Amino acid sequence: MTALDLSRLITAVADTIAAHAEELTALDQAIGDGDHGLNMKRGFEAVRAEAEAFSAKPLPDALKAIGTKLVMTVGGASGPLFGTLFLALGKEISADPDRANLTSAFGKAIEAVAARGKSHVGQKTMLDVLQPVHDALAKGSSLAEMADIADAAAEATAPMKALRGRASFLGDRSIGHMDAGARSTALLVRTLAQTIGDKA
Ligand code: ADP
Ligand code: MG
Repeated sequence: MTALDLSRLITAVADTIAAHAEELTALDQAIGDGDHGLNMKRGFEAVRAEAEAFSAKPLPDALKAIGTKLVMTVGGASGPLFGTLFLALGKEISADPDRANLTSAFGKAIEAVAARGKSHVGQKTMLDVLQPVHDALAKGSSLAEMADIADAAAEATAPMKALRGRASFLGDRSIGHMDAGARSTALLVRTLAQTIGDKA
């Protein structure tokens, strides 16, 4: 990936999060504290501000820099978790990854998020989108398929009962609302898929 590609990806992701901040806030208002949109926007605007410097780095270092920035700026429960995702990805990925390396690095990054969140799939969190996207990557799905899988997986959190994060305080009342972090994860996946796909 060239510096220009990475810079375009960062810009595209920051644009998407900004465009969907109100939607993410509304989702978090329903079963959380309503800060997820602002948290994500603050974090990805901070990454956007450093897009040029980050993009000049080799991919592993760029991902680690993005992760560190997200940990410092997103806040809430999701900041350390998204930060961990990018930090761990940066640790595991090679400078010019093929699909096999990307798949294994992404799998280890998901494990790092689960360890940090003391969480696993099925608890109505971002993991419920990350894991199916990883599985699709592993079995050779296209970028467009992965984006659709991410959207469907986010939708599928609606009937689930939250067992982690603030939404878990609501117990059964968390049922019927999509998880905000699952939705933001799906937005990240679709934006990455579209931006990389446009280029391919
Ligand atoms: P907070 O819950 O502190 O207000 P955010 O609103 O920014 O933080 O993020 C909430 C999102 O973080 C949830 O929708 C969920 O996807 C994710 N999340 C929260 N706790 C966990 C956890 N323990 N493991 C995985 N994801 C979690
Ligand atoms: Mg919140």
